[in-house]
Amino acid sequence: GEIKLVRESTTERNWLTSALPNLVRPLGGIVNADEGGKDYLAKIKIAVFLYDLISNFLSKYKNKNKYRYLKAQQIIEMESEVKKEGLLGGAIYYDTNVDDSRLTIETIKDALAISKSKKIDSYAFSYCKFIGFDKNENHHKVVYVQDRVGGLTHAIKGKVVVNATGIWIDETLEKANIKQRFIRPTKGVHIILKNQRLKNNHAFGLRSIDDGRFFFVIRREDYSYIGTTDTDYNENLDEPVCEKKDCDYLLNTINFVFPDAKITYKDIISAYAGVRPLILEEGKSESAVSRKHIIYDHSKSNQKKSKYNKKDSKYNQKNSEYNHISEYNHIDRFITIGGGKLTIFRKMGEDLLIFLQKNGYLKLKTLKRNISKKDYLIAVKEKNLYKDELNKVGITKQYFDYCIRQYGKGAFIIFDYIIKNPELGKRFIEDYILTKAEVVYHFNYEMALTISDILERRTETNCHLHYERQRELAEKIANFLVDFYGFNIDELKTQVESYIERIDKNTKFLRENL
Ligand SMILES: Cc1cc2nc3c(=O)[nH]c(=O)nc-3n(C[C@H](O)[C@H](O)[C@H](O)COP(=O)(O)OP(=O)(O)OC[C@H]3O[C@@H](n4cnc5c(N)ncnc54)[C@H](O)[C@@H]3O)c2cc1C
Repeated sequence: GEIKLVRESTTERNWLTSALPNLVRPLGGIVNADEGGKDYLAKIKIAVFLYDLISNFLSKYKNKNKYRYLKAQQIIEMESEVKKEGLLGGAIYYDTNVDDSRLTIETIKDALAISKSKKIDSYAFSYCKFIGFDKNENHHKVVYVQDRVGGLTHAIKGKVVVNATGIWIDETLEKANIKQRFIRPTKGVHIILKNQRLKNNHAFGLRSIDDGRFFFVIRREDYSYIGTTDTDYNENLDEPVCEKKDCDYLLNTINFVFPDAKITYKDIISAYAGVRPLILEEGKSESAVSRKHIIYDHSKSNQKKSKYNKKDSKYNQKNSEYNHISEYNHIDRFITIGGGKLTIFRKMGEDLLIFLQKNGYLKLKTLKRNISKKDYLIAVKEKNLYKDELNKVGITKQYFDYCIRQYGKGAFIIFDYIIKNPELGKRFIEDYILTKAEVVYHFNYEMALTISDILERRTETNCHLHYERQRELAEKIANFLVDFYGFNIDELKTQVESYIERIDKNTKFLRENL
């Protein structure tokens, strides 16, 4: 089963690398064998060989680079800070990394653009909260959503309603009066350093010296991301935070594998936590829970009792009263999809459509497997466009490359703004790359509504700018929005505070322990 999952996700990843080359970037990852370590050389060699075979064999979309076995001396030459004593060798294999928020926003924009080109009405709403069902109306379902910005409640009518609310799936079911549990949330934290501290040129797969779990240090341009942890989580789903113990767990192994780097709290520029929407599985540790996805039809009374919802799950005891599927849990034309991984989002969408078609909820004219494996509209293959014009207005190569990476063809809209109004090419703060033109692009083309949208969901500023500089930048953006768009300053001040509160919660342990 897990081999099928690896095959599925690597195939999707290989397709994404060709469909969105600016955003889904190949990354070499080194795995070391050390004297006395759990991962001996032969095991690593077999693992990378099999991984490559599973990823590429009979697949139309291939991984761009091939694995290599490495001698100890080669690793030392490639990575100056790595522990040299006891190093036996290892291997490098290739995966990718992506800014998940940008992948999401580009996919939404692409879907809307494709619908428009086919004259199909499609809408995407953000900040719209599902609050409950109304009774059925002429074989349609009516759901109520609350606009969290404008405050109004709206009724939306459809043939079928799909609950794809990730870690909030169970909360959504509660709103629909369904007492059933699907999700086992686990927390994962990342800490971020400037790359010049670890100097890692590649990613590393590391085994924790505390519990033998696997985690990574990843190179993303000028930054090293270290993570993630994987621990059961039963607190507020909206506000997971990185705590001292999470950070210490990661640093213990980092300082063992990169002893000369001597990383301390002072080197950490940011930290964040997320919650994985894993599907409940009985008696398994956090890391062992499968990353497979499920589709569940709430209208079917004879549906096989889910093995994920047995009463005696030790992780689910406190919710045990809910863990049965009773006749009271049925709702017509209501489907839940969850679990899985970001990498396979397209496949999950396709599986959902096929499920809806097979069960008579939708009647689509054409529905073939892999129909959506197409290039994204924003994919950039030709980079030399605009070169001369850009030179004239002083756009540096560094900024040009950053914009293409970040926005694909959208970068050319940003460059247009700057050519027409060079003031928009200015940064908010000298030592951080974000310009005013980008913020205008976020509002005009990317449905941004808040300061957090800009800093956490359209860029990775929450990760890349030191936590002590965040307020300065957020306030400058707020002032700019007041001047440029005439937005309400009080509303923006509230948004700044809510953003800073989240940054502060994730870095509280750093400020208290420096
Ligand atoms: C630390 C960490 C590391 C990870 N690493 C990887 C990785 O390396 N590779 C990988 O492929 N995946 C990874 N994942 C998993 C990946 O992020 C998730 O599988 C993916 O984001 C789940 O997508 P989703 O659409 O199901 O849920 P989400 O992305 O959570 O989307 C659910 C949406 O529903 C909305 N929502 C919730 N309640 C309501 C409501 N009442 N009304 C309206 N909307 C609502 C939310 O606002 C949200 O936008 C990682 C996750 C974490 C936390």
